[in-house]
Amino acid sequence: MRRCRGCGQPTPFARCLECERIYQRKRNVQLKRKAYRDPNYLAIPLVGVCQDCGSAVDLTRHHERAVRYGGSVADGIVILCRTCNSRRQ
Ligand SMILES: [Zn+2]
Ligand SMILES: [Zn+2]
Repeated sequence: MRRCRGCGQPTPFARCLECERIYQRKRNVQLKRKAYRDPNYLAIPLVGVCQDCGSAVDLTRHHERAVRYGGSVADGIVILCRTCNSRRQ
């Protein structure tokens, strides 16, 4: 048995389930912050229409590879409206 890096409880993993969940959430927030402040990301113009439904309203930049899995501009960005973007997440 090892000890959880978060709370010190004995656990077979690096962290107990609860601490792992908290850790992943924090990591996700950090990844998102980094991805959405990336100058390359911000430089992509929000023009044209949504690739999924053709709407020209409320356009967003969508990471082809999810940010929580380490996706960045290099993995590809598609223009989607807010509705399609949230559906794809
Ligand atoms: Zn723990
Ligand atoms: Zn759309």
